Amino acid sequence: MIGGGQLARMAHDAAIPLGVRFRLLADTPQDSASLVVNDVVLGDYRDLDTLRRFAAGCDVITFDHEHVPTEHLRTLLAEGVNVRPGPDALVFAQDKGLMRAKLDSLGVPCPRHRLVADAADVTRFAQEGEGASRSDSDKGGYPVVLKTTRGGYDGKGVWVVDDETEAAEPFQAGVPVLAEEKVDFVRELAADVVRSPHGQAVAYPVVESVQKDGICHEVVAPAPNLSAELAAEAQALALRIAGELDITGHLAVELFETRDGRVLVNELAMRPHNSGHWSIDGAVTSQFENHIRAVLDLPLGDPRPRQPWTVMVNVLGGDYPDMYSAYLHCMARDPGLRIHMYGKDVKPGRKVGHVTVFGDDLEDVRERARHAAAYLRGDITE
Ligand code: ADP
Repeated sequence: MIGGGQLARMAHDAAIPLGVRFRLLADTPQDSASLVVNDVVLGDYRDLDTLRRFAAGCDVITFDHEHVPTEHLRTLLAEGVNVRPGPDALVFAQDKGLMRAKLDSLGVPCPRHRLVADAADVTRFAQEGEGASRSDSDKGGYPVVLKTTRGGYDGKGVWVVDDETEAAEPFQAGVPVLAEEKVDFVRELAADVVRSPHGQAVAYPVVESVQKDGICHEVVAPAPNLSAELAAEAQALALRIAGELDITGHLAVELFETRDGRVLVNELAMRPHNSGHWSIDGAVTSQFENHIRAVLDLPLGDPRPRQPWTVMVNVLGGDYPDMYSAYLHCMARDPGLRIHMYGKDVKPGRKVGHVTVFGDDLEDVRERARHAAAYLRGDITE
């Protein structure tokens, strides 16, 4: 797996019981996954020779992030390396402009969008919107969401801008910029599926994901009060995208649920994803194991939940108190709590771990998970 973050760390964890040998390409020995994997190649994933050195002897290579240059992956593929998902699929997770164009061509519902050239063009985009100049609080179609087409993650590379002055900032990076209408959504959902080269695919229950400042904070599986029709529609949409794009492995389709009961696609991620962490403790087969099975073209495991409700809450870096005393409190308070820490240095706002609780009573499960995450973060002390 290329990338030494927590996704690789958890994928490695899933590889162990399968007896699958796992090699890592990581930046440093201190990366979250480097700390636990014994076969680590250190180097830069943007360097073709490093990639070649890493891939030599691997049956298949896959990813913990989307940032490996597409042209290097094409070269590796041409040299006989099994790259899964392949570059022709992965490019739609790497470049938001290409992703939107592809989804348009498939008739997949998305927010209104187009590439924009500069701040004045953003204003034109804003005014093109339906009802843009008719609302009472006329802001000329603003706010608008701007995204750099490449290189963003966890809300980096995403701006919500209120006027043309603010709209200038994203262009400074020199990367193409995509404008989107700001969707007035009810909530965010994710439809996670896994597909193998064989064409077998499984769909996890659609989950609700709660984001703050572009970072996922909490995931509830399955999404509460989601109609069976909309859930099935979202799963079918994700399976169709996985098939049409010929994706191998885990695909997370991030969705907005609109006030009129539809879903719009926000983002695609072709790797294990934060929206699927609940599945480690909450599903028969985790997203990580199914991703590994898929890239090895093995039959996929059952994605169904083991309990009525599973809630996952991320532990973000904060004013960490002593970790050990936090463990004493959390473990003593709640023997059913599942703790997953990633071995990362604490930096404010950084994802350093997650906790999971499952059971029959959603309110109880959610309170326990939130409490543990807040305690581990140091937000509360009793
Ligand atoms: P990233 O690549 O950082 O994950 P996303 O495109 O998923 O970026 O955007 C991050 C968050 O910003 C989303 O989860 C959502 O909360 C908000 N967002 C993104 N696009 C829109 C939009 N068109 N309308 C409203 N909110 C949006």
